Amino acid sequence: MQYKDLAEWSERAGKWAESYFATLRERPVRPHMVPGDFAKQIPAHAPDDPEKIETIFADFDRLVPGAMTHWQHPRFFAYFPASVAPASMLADYLANAMGCNTMLWQTSPAGTELEVRMIDWMRDAFGLPAKFTGLLQEGASSSTLCAILTMRERALAWKGLEDGLRPHPKLRVYASPENHSSIDKAVRIAGIGQSNLVKVPTRADRSLDTDALREAIKADRHSGCIPAGLVLCVGGTATGSCDNIEDAISVAKEFDLYTHVDAAWAGAAMLCPEYREIWQGVDDADSIVVNAHKWLGASIGCSIQFLADKSLQLRTLGLRPDYLKSENVHEVINLNEMSVALGRRFLALKLWFVVRAYGLSGLRELVRNQIGWVRELESLFLADPDFEVPISNPLAFFAFRYAVPGRDKGKLTDELARRINDDGRTYLTETVVDGTPAIRVAAGNFECTRDDVLSVYRIAKELAETIGRSGRTIR
Ligand code: PLP
Repeated sequence: MQYKDLAEWSERAGKWAESYFATLRERPVRPHMVPGDFAKQIPAHAPDDPEKIETIFADFDRLVPGAMTHWQHPRFFAYFPASVAPASMLADYLANAMGCNTMLWQTSPAGTELEVRMIDWMRDAFGLPAKFTGLLQEGASSSTLCAILTMRERALAWKGLEDGLRPHPKLRVYASPENHSSIDKAVRIAGIGQSNLVKVPTRADRSLDTDALREAIKADRHSGCIPAGLVLCVGGTATGSCDNIEDAISVAKEFDLYTHVDAAWAGAAMLCPEYREIWQGVDDADSIVVNAHKWLGASIGCSIQFLADKSLQLRTLGLRPDYLKSENVHEVINLNEMSVALGRRFLALKLWFVVRAYGLSGLRELVRNQIGWVRELESLFLADPDFEVPISNPLAFFAFRYAVPGRDKGKLTDELARRINDDGRTYLTETVVDGTPAIRVAAGNFECTRDDVLSVYRIAKELAETIGRSGRTIR
């Protein structure tokens, strides 16, 4: 394939995408496959000779879509959906066409400056104070890793970068057990170690217990450890829980801890002022992450990290060897100096396209609709005596169980989840709430309608009734 063939094949790809979306609703959300089924169809070795793009494209169409879990399916309610707006696809195409690297200002002036401007736009859109700047990252995990590296170095007065951690007392990081495993991964990678991530107990509402936090910090100080930072969640992954950000940050400040707020999924709802109560106090955080690639329509790989004082992350991660010096410009933002990887994609382009294509009002409407529909769905489960709702949430999330009195609700729920996902009309994932399985429902796809959301109850009810009839005994 040559560059001159791009126009024709882009048109074919565009038509393919249009027809994919037009027929997506008819496909099962998840394919019926076992591991290895797909790989069997791909030759074990790369071809020596070039192949025609017609052949490659035909193989893609024949093999790939049928072996995919369709994240953009309007009835995908598993994990947290990761919506892709058409405007984002287009922007990604253009960014890919330029194939640029936004590592330095001079390697991508528009990429860098648009990113800075997008952070300003989103900060204002979320109602955050003007002191926040930041950057786009590939994911919340990368943003959290950068925040944890920064809290580590700040606590060590930036000596860890030179000395490593061995000469220093143990560092301690605090978070509730409701936080995502990316926090665990970050403390491991940062050399702080899993055993120094203190899982602070939670209160009845699953928010971090701030009294227990204070006691844990005091005990650690007393035993010679260095309390370095606190990670808080707004919309935890398993149960959607939210910490009391205001109280927790005020405890962190008493002990001079660096604070990072993980609002990877729920943060998008903060576009709507009526939900901002759930992160009340966030203005005092040092770092905040919100994924634009979950609920805001930017394709995967677009996470917004806001920083109250970016100089701390710059000091932690910034290196400027001779070969990365910019000609004739010194006072310049080089975005790689605030993140782990040097090479960076042009992430801002898709956010720019999406925010303009929908407007903040369009994005708010989308979020509000989905929250309203999910609340309606939850009320159907609440009204049905065969189900219980162990997790409720103010946003587009809840969890239910199949709980027929006198039978083991954990086993019934596991079996129902299996049947729902084998059925293919929708896709839901399970979690464990207080030791018993529960099925999560998380909405967020741009194309999902009220009927798609409400269909979850109809499907669950229909399949729950088949459990009784299947002859398998579940007590
Ligand atoms: N934090 C929370 C609360 C999440 O729900 C997730 C993923 O679902 C992550 C972090 C990790 O996000 P990413 O895949 O962008 O690294």
